[in-house]
Amino acid sequence: MKTKHDLIQWLEAERNQFTHMADQIWAYSEVAWREFRSSKLQADFLADEGFHITWDIAGINTSFVAQWGAGRPIIGFAGEYDALAGLSQTTQPYQEPRAGVEAGHACGHNLLGTGCLAAAVAVTQWLQATGTKGTVRYYGCPAEERTSGKTFMARAGAFDDLDAAFNFHPDRMNMPSKGTNVGVYDLTFRFHGRAAHAGGSPHRGRSALDAVELMNVGVNYLREHVTEKVRMHYVITHGGNLPNVVPAEAEVWYFLRALEREELDQVAERVNKIAQGAALMTETTMEGMFNGACSSVLNNHYLADLQYSAMELVGPIEFTEEERAYAQQISDAYPEENARDLFKDMEVPPSIRERMADLQQQPLLAENFQAMDERRVATGSTDVGDLSWIAPLSMLRTACFATRASGHSWGIAATSGMSIGHKGMMHAAKIMAVAALDLYADPRHLQRARQEFGAATRDRPYESPIPDTVRPPRYEDPGGS
Ligand SMILES: [Zn+2]
Repeated sequence: MKTKHDLIQWLEAERNQFTHMADQIWAYSEVAWREFRSSKLQADFLADEGFHITWDIAGINTSFVAQWGAGRPIIGFAGEYDALAGLSQTTQPYQEPRAGVEAGHACGHNLLGTGCLAAAVAVTQWLQATGTKGTVRYYGCPAEERTSGKTFMARAGAFDDLDAAFNFHPDRMNMPSKGTNVGVYDLTFRFHGRAAHAGGSPHRGRSALDAVELMNVGVNYLREHVTEKVRMHYVITHGGNLPNVVPAEAEVWYFLRALEREELDQVAERVNKIAQGAALMTETTMEGMFNGACSSVLNNHYLADLQYSAMELVGPIEFTEEERAYAQQISDAYPEENARDLFKDMEVPPSIRERMADLQQQPLLAENFQAMDERRVATGSTDVGDLSWIAPLSMLRTACFATRASGHSWGIAATSGMSIGHKGMMHAAKIMAVAALDLYADPRHLQRARQEFGAATRDRPYESPIPDTVRPPRYEDPGGS
């Protein structure tokens, strides 16, 4: 194996073991912090491939680092494997939960982790065959859906000596990104009141649920006075037990999002004041908890361009008639405007813009859409952000989902468990592996990427958004290990 074509061919020849792994992780559908079987499956595989495994990064027992080779450069691939609660789905192209399974891979992290792993393994094959020196790392990163697995790993120094890193997220089109994602704070507000008979003596009670509701009303009024990209969303995680008891305990769980840390801090401070106000109004007490956080994403443009060149070399994904029909059925189940939304805020080449109306009608964009996302500020978040402020990083997106399928919904889980997702995942593995090969083969590429990174971070050294005192949750493996 000498050339980029050899590398691409190796991945194609070995694809079955990787698609099999992605399917197993899809079947496990383990949620954040409890990805015991998924992480073990990957770590065992990498150990067999000659990687050295270190478990329990940052005190998280489903996180690991797998390392192969020696010396510089050290290139990392950041994988994920957590599923989403409540989004169980079979591989049918219509909504159908899996019997006896509660969670589902409705963000395609089974593909994300395995695609990054496949790229890492392929690169070791090439390094070995060519006698090139360097270190390959695969990061088994838990709890991306709680937006803080990598943030805790970053705080523990796991990414500090990386020269560069790659990550890919399944999507609806093939596209390295120069855009960014907003940061997030994950906060819980718990109110303590006084129980009383809600019929007989309600005047003796102090309702913690009232406090939660008043807090939410306050935050909903705050919406008018934040900037456009700020997001504030909540779920009530406890609201009492019985209507005839004034609830003494209630709890609401918030995600706050903004692009800049400063703005996020300001919004968090105002939300905190609203919570205090709600406690004052209801004569309850309030306890605020900081659960986790992640930073915005700093995508390295030089690495994105390398990935773009690699994408052109690999060529588009080809889907079968059967796959198109399958994706069409999923797309038809979602509103038409979902397709228009995909291009929102995105800078696309004029040639693509002209064909936009036509592209939006297609169930799978991959065959036609290979582009660069130039400047979009996405209002979802990813803990890849924290890694991106420590080492030059490029996020790649490839088509694994039907065009109109909404994020975090059943249609995403369906294609993530079958051939459409497999093809998108292998596509990503090839592109990342080829781009990484460039970095190992010619130090000038890495120099350019690091120059850009140095300029972008000179006045903004990485600072963890998670306070020192906050620890990640830890669960014991129910299966034992
Ligand atoms: Zn995701």
